[in-house]
Amino acid sequence: MIADKRILIAGAGPVGMISGYYLARQGIPVTIFDSAPATRPDHRASTVHPSTLDMLNDLGVTERLFSQGLKSEVFQFRDRYDDRIVAEFDYGIIADETDHPFALQVEQHKVINATCDLASALPDFNLLRPYTVTGATQDDDGVEVTVTNPTGEEEKHSGRFLIAADGGRSIIRKELGIDFPGFTWAERFIIATTKFDFGRPENGNHRYRNYVAHPKQWCALIKVAGDDMTGLWRILIPAQGDESDEVVSSEEWVQNIFTECLPYNPPYEIIHRNLYNVHQRVAETFEKGRIVLAGDSAHVNNPLGGMGMNGGIHDGINIAEKLVRIWRGEGDATALLPQYDRQRRTMAIKYVQAQSIANKEILQESDMEVRRKKLDALGAIAADRDRCHDYLMKSSLIAMVREANATP
Ligand SMILES: Cc1cc2nc3c(=O)[nH]c(=O)nc-3n(C[C@H](O)[C@H](O)[C@H](O)COP(=O)(O)OP(=O)(O)OC[C@H]3O[C@@H](n4cnc5c(N)ncnc54)[C@H](O)[C@@H]3O)c2cc1C
Repeated sequence: MIADKRILIAGAGPVGMISGYYLARQGIPVTIFDSAPATRPDHRASTVHPSTLDMLNDLGVTERLFSQGLKSEVFQFRDRYDDRIVAEFDYGIIADETDHPFALQVEQHKVINATCDLASALPDFNLLRPYTVTGATQDDDGVEVTVTNPTGEEEKHSGRFLIAADGGRSIIRKELGIDFPGFTWAERFIIATTKFDFGRPENGNHRYRNYVAHPKQWCALIKVAGDDMTGLWRILIPAQGDESDEVVSSEEWVQNIFTECLPYNPPYEIIHRNLYNVHQRVAETFEKGRIVLAGDSAHVNNPLGGMGMNGGIHDGINIAEKLVRIWRGEGDATALLPQYDRQRRTMAIKYVQAQSIANKEILQESDMEVRRKKLDALGAIAADRDRCHDYLMKSSLIAMVREANATP
């Protein structure tokens, strides 16, 4: 089958873009297809963890991101019911483990666009958009993808390997018949954005990342820089009842819940709001023959802890490293691709799924005795230097990357 030796990538989200850039930087020809005409300024990922900053720094991406983001050196868990700060975690405690002892609050589209700018200067990088991948086949020699081009015609493109970074609804994963077991949370999530400054002392003195527990209406409050760098605050709130999507995404409903969770100086000017269904799922395998899944096509999780994009970027860099070795004849695909699955799939379950579920459970606990115990236990971790170090190693995904890389 193989007419063209390049590596094909479906999807130019953060995962596809960074994998493609990594490969092209190593002189490996790559073509990325994306169905969208341009990067969408989605209100999705906004936290880039120390583990990911270390990787992106090696690729020259971080220097383009620092000027577009906010350094978040601490994050807090709060209890709105008892009106207290439960735990504050300071990345300074892991300064001996990372070159970046902070998270960077920077929107997903800035990560994609900064990487795309660097990649586009490389001769081996080819981004085709809007091109929609509609199918993929493979044999012993290569892969062939079918795409719909901008004029609506069908085209075939061949290559040696395919990275499916086409998001949670991955057409490639479905085409390969790879199961995506897990579950969908009963409640929907609303994300709403305002310019109102919750960081000021009279407005709660919030950090850039705050997880606020409450037995009935928990929330998360995150600051991002915004495109003009003047600052935006995003609240993430669950919609628990059986009201329609239309009702819970209405200005009135969002304003009421916003005010209930953050009663400082409402009404807030809501400049954006969106409704999501949230899933916890991990694909039954991350590789099949010459095709690998990476990012949301391989695993999805709730956004508490900001780990989906980070884990996806780690997948993308892990598989790109292996494809470079295969390309140069330094490793065998039949050994390295299954190793990718062992390293990344196992860790996605052990770290990202476990931590994101635990984060949600602690915020939403409604049994008053249990919630007090859980929140006090979290406070005790933050107050103990060794346990805090361990917690930060896990939540910043440094422990996950190290364990993955040590997995044979
Ligand atoms: C509210 C919210 C907040 C979040 N916050 C964080 C956070 O702070 N930190 C974090 O790490 N993660 C966070 N996440 C998760 C994060 O957004 C995702 O994990 C991340 O976008 C996954 O990247 P990806 O490249 O795998 O997929 P996507 O970003 O979904 O990109 C997939 C790309 O593939 C393209 N595509 C899809 N189908 C096709 C096709 N058939 N043909 C061609 N192209 C196709 C799409 O156009 C898109 O560009 C959050 C998510 C949500 C919903």
